[in-house]
Amino acid sequence: VTPVIHPRLLRSAALPLALLAMSAIGASPAPATGQSRTGSTREAWVDVYRPEAVSIAERALRDSAAWQRLAELTDTFGPRLSGSRNLELAIDWAEATLARDGLSVHREPVMVPRWVRGEERLEIVSPGPRALPMLGLGGSVGTPDGGIEAEALVVESFDALERRAAEARGRIVVFDVPYTSYGETVQYRISGAIRAARAGAVAMLLRSVGPVGMRTPHTGATSYVETVAPIPAAAIAAEDASMLARLQRRGMPARLRLSMGAHQLPDTASANLVAEWRGRERPEEIVAIGGHFDSWDVGTGALDDGVGCIVAWEVLRVIKAAGLRPRRTLRLVLFTNEENGLRGGYGYLARHRAELGAHVLMIESDLGVFPPLTMGFSGSPTARIRIEDITRVLLAPIGVDRVGGAGGGADIAPFAEAGGIPTLSIAGEMTRYFTYHHTAADTVERLDPRDIARAVATLAIVSYVVAEMPERLSDATARSTR
Ligand SMILES: [Zn+2]
Repeated sequence: VTPVIHPRLLRSAALPLALLAMSAIGASPAPATGQSRTGSTREAWVDVYRPEAVSIAERALRDSAAWQRLAELTDTFGPRLSGSRNLELAIDWAEATLARDGLSVHREPVMVPRWVRGEERLEIVSPGPRALPMLGLGGSVGTPDGGIEAEALVVESFDALERRAAEARGRIVVFDVPYTSYGETVQYRISGAIRAARAGAVAMLLRSVGPVGMRTPHTGATSYVETVAPIPAAAIAAEDASMLARLQRRGMPARLRLSMGAHQLPDTASANLVAEWRGRERPEEIVAIGGHFDSWDVGTGALDDGVGCIVAWEVLRVIKAAGLRPRRTLRLVLFTNEENGLRGGYGYLARHRAELGAHVLMIESDLGVFPPLTMGFSGSPTARIRIEDITRVLLAPIGVDRVGGAGGGADIAPFAEAGGIPTLSIAGEMTRYFTYHHTAADTVERLDPRDIARAVATLAIVSYVVAEMPERLSDATARSTR
């Protein structure tokens, strides 16, 4: 259960939190950890940023501005699938609103794929005729007019499909694969249609990739290969996948009728949105922070990834509002088309290749902000020590005290990998995130305004220190005890 905090309640809750954080950040450093033989702490270098961190935390934690802006985005424009008018209207709104925030903003055109879901329906014909909740998978082909009717063959793995391949011809293969982790289970969404088609199936249904929810189907991209004719692919709720498996075990396999109007239209124009708070001393060096502004066409894309975009945006707004202008440039990138193409991420690489050496750090959060919040970081050991020092001294007081082994996001990956640039992300509890991920239930109610505010404070403090510290993060040698 997600407790929903009404914004009115936050007004009273936020201030004590902000005050608590400010006094904790402002306190003298905790003894013992990292104490050197000479008596100075390993984190001494970061102490000088305490006043700015307090002022950033005070700004970020004192109200529900970030939640309110996310609600405005998702209430006004709803889902933002690539190629949709909603996405382009949302980009227009963001561009105008960023300019009103006093940031210099411009768009960088990117052509994006345009997949349209169309009308869709799944029914059990026998036994007991009924409709089942379903969502076609992104990129799927549609069915012929009148749909496809066939008997279900339920399998629990690719291996099981291989063993029963002789039975698959002419049937609708249903992958009833229990959710373990996203990375593992999503393989069935990505290549299930190819495997089923190879065995002669006429369509593929997938137990939704996510923990058992409230009979909720999860969409997401699927893929095809040129050597196998594509078949329609859709997700069903975990509960219904289990039910179809039970019917089959009782010797009563379901007869299904699937009809999908899904189709692909020609690529269409979209854009990455780039906004900057220019550095005062080394504007050519960049700390980039972003998220993906597109979403699937169900829900409102609040978690995936509206919140990542708004948190990144708020980082710039809060630092500027706190009267701070770091040495280096803070660059916000709202990427288009992560979900079904990653064209925004590759577009950024194509346009900014000359700046590969100028990016000091790239930040992207695309995993929700459910507590406990943690950061992930990928970079050199010396850079990691710096991030850990910042965390211990300036972030632990606001409840973020751990730096995980890897950080980053799909949109920044092409650029960061090309340039060997350190990457950082914020993440939260994954089970809750993946319960809502790619469903109609991905709405702003899932998010607690205080968690969003804390994510803003966290990334704003990290971004500020990395943009302000004299040496580049990647060049930083730990002035430490060893
Ligand atoms: Zn995402």
